[in-house]
Amino acid sequence: MGVSDPDADRHRRHSMVLIPFDTPGVSIERSLPVFDHDAGGGHSETLFENVRVPKEHLLGEEGAGFALAQARLGPGRIHHCMRAIGMAEKALRLMCERVQQRVAFGQPLADQGTIQAQVAESRIAIEQARLLTLKAAWLIDTVGAKGARFEISAIKVVAARLATTVIDRAIQTFGAAGVTNDWPLAEMYGHARTLHFVDGPDEVHLQQIARRELRGYEEFRTVDS
Ligand SMILES: Cc1cc2nc3c(=O)[nH]c(=O)nc-3n(C[C@H](O)[C@H](O)[C@H](O)COP(=O)(O)OP(=O)(O)OC[C@H]3O[C@@H](n4cnc5c(N)ncnc54)[C@H](O)[C@@H]3O)c2cc1C
Repeated sequence: MGVSDPDADRHRRHSMVLIPFDTPGVSIERSLPVFDHDAGGGHSETLFENVRVPKEHLLGEEGAGFALAQARLGPGRIHHCMRAIGMAEKALRLMCERVQQRVAFGQPLADQGTIQAQVAESRIAIEQARLLTLKAAWLIDTVGAKGARFEISAIKVVAARLATTVIDRAIQTFGAAGVTNDWPLAEMYGHARTLHFVDGPDEVHLQQIARRELRGYEEFRTVDS
């Protein structure tokens, strides 16, 4: 995606073009691991030097890049959320297995009240996130991605927090083993951490939600900004 007309309206400036990797002028400079892990693969610094492709490689119309990106973002974001919930489920399962097996100070970790609280908090948070995801999905189906954008923003923030929080708890219950590559938790954490950025940083989603929430309360302002 690139700027094709810098003078156009800001929503019509970009276009998307498909560029096969073997096109002359395309080179992968380096891959970009996340916390030294692959994080799903496919992320790299890529150089495009005097690359030419037939005009049929244009996706949609010239100037439609922003609209195409927006069309993909709503469903794309909720897809991240579903994967985040799956990661949280896996982390909780690993945590439960571990605390049943691991004996410290004479008793299984599972018998410790603080561990039980973390298991319970994780289950509650997963169920909350799942319900909000289902609501956002239902809205996408019934009123479309645009009408569901605030719920999509909300679940994008919630699901990223859920995944990093539950995976972090699982790492803690594993002790030092949790941060090694003997278990998948460290890699899962790196992946989950990216969800706080990808498809919009948390702050931007919070800003969108706050703006909608504050709309209608302008009459209470005492000073103009
Ligand atoms: C593993 C991975 C995969 C990715 N895959 C893709 C992909 O497939 N497609 C794609 O387009 N991008 C992808 N990204 C990039 C991602 O979308 C960007 O990182 C993200 O949009 C944030 O942009 P930035 O990194 O330039 O941060 P910046 O825009 O520089 O923001 C830096 C920080 O500033 C803060 N900030 C930014 N804006 C605001 C605001 N309005 N209010 C308050 N605080 C703010 C936030 O804390 C933010 O994290 C990927 C990133 C990672 C790590």
